[in-house]
Amino acid sequence: MTYRAPVSDYQFIFDHIVDFSAVLNSESFSDVDQDTVLAILEEAGKLASDVIAPLDRGGDLNPAQLVDGVVKTSPGFADALGQVAEGGWIGMLASPDNGGMGLPLTVGTAVNDMMSGACLALSLYPLMCQGQIEALEHHASDDLKAVYLPKLVSGEWCGTMNLTEPGAGSDVGALRTKAERNGDGSYSITGQKIFITWGDNDFSENVCHLVLARLPDGAPGTKGISLFMVPKVIPNEDGSLGEKNSLHVVSLEHKLGIHGSPTCVMEYDGAKGWLVGEEHQGMKCMFTMMNNARLGVGVQGVGIAEAATQKALAYAQGRVQGKSPLGNEGAGIIDHADVRRMLATMRADTFVARSIALACGVALDLGRTVPEQQARGAFLIPIAKAFSTDIGHEVAQTGVQVHGGMGYIEETGAAQYARDARITSIYEGTNGIQAMDLVGRKLMDGGEAAFALLDEIETFAEAARATLPKRAIAVWNSAETLREGLETVLTLPMNDRFGVAVPFLRAFARVLGGYFHLKAAIAEGGDGPRSRLAAFYIKRMLPEHRALLAQVRLGAQDIYALSPEDLTV
Ligand SMILES: Cc1cc2nc3c(=O)[nH]c(=O)nc-3n(C[C@H](O)[C@H](O)[C@H](O)COP(=O)(O)OP(=O)(O)OC[C@H]3O[C@@H](n4cnc5c(N)ncnc54)[C@H](O)[C@@H]3O)c2cc1C
Repeated sequence: MTYRAPVSDYQFIFDHIVDFSAVLNSESFSDVDQDTVLAILEEAGKLASDVIAPLDRGGDLNPAQLVDGVVKTSPGFADALGQVAEGGWIGMLASPDNGGMGLPLTVGTAVNDMMSGACLALSLYPLMCQGQIEALEHHASDDLKAVYLPKLVSGEWCGTMNLTEPGAGSDVGALRTKAERNGDGSYSITGQKIFITWGDNDFSENVCHLVLARLPDGAPGTKGISLFMVPKVIPNEDGSLGEKNSLHVVSLEHKLGIHGSPTCVMEYDGAKGWLVGEEHQGMKCMFTMMNNARLGVGVQGVGIAEAATQKALAYAQGRVQGKSPLGNEGAGIIDHADVRRMLATMRADTFVARSIALACGVALDLGRTVPEQQARGAFLIPIAKAFSTDIGHEVAQTGVQVHGGMGYIEETGAAQYARDARITSIYEGTNGIQAMDLVGRKLMDGGEAAFALLDEIETFAEAARATLPKRAIAVWNSAETLREGLETVLTLPMNDRFGVAVPFLRAFARVLGGYFHLKAAIAEGGDGPRSRLAAFYIKRMLPEHRALLAQVRLGAQDIYALSPEDLTV
């Protein structure tokens, strides 16, 4: 069973769960209409299902390799990425002024979901390029834009982001890569970066690295960091390719999953670079790139969850073990209550994670002109990143369980989803760091964006009582419990907040899930497959929020009460 892009699910979510019509009606996207969006989703769905998904297993079995200093990519990847570029998918979010499609982020998020479900390793390539294009659009000088943007948008060149160093992972401010002024407007970059996704390949004409480095007069920590464009091949003034830059791939990492994505150790040896944004303002520029990248990584979790659910469902229908408790002759294991429970959990959480990601996309699209929506988007980003990738990982693990022993055997592909999904909760800011961002920076507004979301949920649940009283009351109550939890979090000193950040983030996502499932059930008139899934979620999965929020009052004290010695047996 190969992956099929779930185009109808995006349509349903756009129409009934998130306010996508507001995006289409907004000034920012006056050129985009509903029919175009549907055609785009269908086209992307075909590419994901028919061209990209068939490469997933081959990429896993034939990892990218370093051969004579150049990364040799997995079979078929170059051709498929050529088709991704030709279709305009790399530049789908870029401004039409730079040759892009100028699509709403919400649509781009759905497309990235499909690409990730089809082949996560391959999908990282366009994702890195999209992030770089966005950073350049916002922060680069006109000269840099003129040289780099057309080539990046067309897909002739590709982009990477270089933050991580051996001593600087979550703590980006600890980086040691140096930048020196050359006196001619360019800079010399020296240092080593590790874990660089798609740091090289054997098909694009140029690889453009965005590198964080510190100038001699840069302050210690994140404040003194600058961002540089450091290309593999230095472009001439007319945009043609000139001499090779002094940088190279030292080695490729051997990883648990995403074998088709080359993860490179990069060495910059006085490489020529050009400043992006202002000196010492690199983190600000990088944050532009990281925000959308976080949403992009969030939907990687959704994509994997979708693919794992599809595979498990197909397997459970075909695999026969014992008699059907429902009396269906020759029925598969799907008739066993526990298997049906696992599949329903997978489907219910995939829907929640997808809805959260698309709601975040809508808020960020509307947030271009509406400050409250911008605040909502910022609040939802860590939830969309952390919850969705946790779900990708959990659903993929459950998918292995549904397959029984065959899930542990590589041939079915269920195990690959579990291995591939694991990284998504680590890179682009670990999920722990995301949760700290949620309870720290994202509550700096006194909880305004969070309370506004809770108000919206309660208003909807109140109105839904007339149609689905039990479900609506359960959702209303969950929002109220979360409100109390939020009020408690706001009273805590910061490190106590950090001690409860992860359960708080998950509780928030659980309640959002109740809201989105209730909306789905109401859209269906309270009777149908989505309503039955909503009932399953609200009765069985939503109550998790209570146990999670019970931890909120504890702060961090009981955690620190355990000394390192206590943890040693
Ligand atoms: C396959 C892969 C691809 C990657 N691609 C890229 C890329 O393209 N570009 C790039 O720059 N980087 C990339 N990375 C790096 C990735 O973003 C980092 O691995 C990640 O940010 C975590 O940093 P670290 O590995 O140093 O872990 P650490 O920072 O050492 O974290 C270890 C643990 O400690 C926790 N922790 C750390 N600090 C704190 C804190 N202050 N409070 C609470 N908990 C904390 C973390 O949550 C984590 O659980 C990639 C990594 C991998 C494995």
